[in-house]
Amino acid sequence: MKQKKIAFFDSKPYDIECFTRANENFGYTIKFFKERLNSDTAVLSRGYDALCAFVNDEIDKATVEILKESGIRMIALRCAGYNNVDLKAVFEQIHIARVPAYSPYAVAEHAMALILTLNRKTHRAYYRTRDNNFTINGLMGIDLHGKNAGVIGTGKIGRIMAGILKGFGMRILAYDAFPNKAFEETGGCQYAALETLYRESDVITLHCPLLPDTRHMINRESIGKMKNGVMIINTSRGQLIDTRALIKGLKSKKIGSAGLDVYEEESEYFFEDHSDSGVDDDMLARLLTFNSVLVTSHQAFFTREALKNIADTTMGNITEFFEGKQMTNEICYK
Ligand code: NAD
Repeated sequence: MKQKKIAFFDSKPYDIECFTRANENFGYTIKFFKERLNSDTAVLSRGYDALCAFVNDEIDKATVEILKESGIRMIALRCAGYNNVDLKAVFEQIHIARVPAYSPYAVAEHAMALILTLNRKTHRAYYRTRDNNFTINGLMGIDLHGKNAGVIGTGKIGRIMAGILKGFGMRILAYDAFPNKAFEETGGCQYAALETLYRESDVITLHCPLLPDTRHMINRESIGKMKNGVMIINTSRGQLIDTRALIKGLKSKKIGSAGLDVYEEESEYFFEDHSDSGVDDDMLARLLTFNSVLVTSHQAFFTREALKNIADTTMGNITEFFEGKQMTNEICYK
């Protein structure tokens, strides 16, 4: 049988290392392209059987048409979210699968790292002590114990997050479009209306997907309902937050702090080194001026365990397709 060829887009050194190792069990020919996938780069996939893409690759209608002409029969997303895919365009043209879960612990633990850093201001303490400045003025935090945490989205990651926050002695208020009654009954959280969650939470952490009805759910109006000095954590998708409204809230101190692993317009910057060229995006540049804001560039998933699971599941998805099996993780257009 002809050896199957996989075009791998947006490759980083850690992808090459993990996928090369995972491929030892499969023996595919993998070409690692540095380029992001979009309608300009899709031609690179000519002659390949399948392609592997990541969160900021643009799989829109124009890209899909080129991929189809190039002979790509399957797209293997090496991530959980697929808001970067025009599913309508892909449907009945190319099969597409994702990695629905790889380590909810990785993402939840990173969200907690953002909370602890912002609360106790260790990001600022780090710079002070390195500069022989041993003062602690301005570094005061709060006890998390006894405070309210609002968890929006109680899926795989949100439930782990709720457990971690409970470990800190916080009361968990949760909102989900499809509440998990069993989770509530076993004491994992207390479901509440969004209004109540906004009104009562000291920390709000987002773990729901980006959908038309969740886009900009954190906006001027919802921020207005929150506690003064609330901390907002987003490790989910940038577009859940209207960044303009977030910046206004931070300026007025309505929002005390924000931990952002994702950003509305991240695809231009995240995962790349812009230390020479700088940032032209005025909103991102403004966010980076607040010492009460901590931006990480979509690294919540980035643990050794998660990457191994991602590589193994992706190779499994590709193999199911090549072997003509029902794909366990196929994304269907509804
Ligand atoms: P999941 O599908 O297990 O859970 C999502 C939850 O959101 C579900 O319980 C669902 O009912 C709920 N939900 C759906 N619509 C909602 C709405 N309108 N309002 C409130 N809740 C709603 O997903 P997961 O594995 O827990 O991942 C959550 C999100 O985390 C993903 O959508 C993805 O965007 C993000 N993520 C980020 C990273 C990262 O590295 N930063 C990594 C993985 C996942």
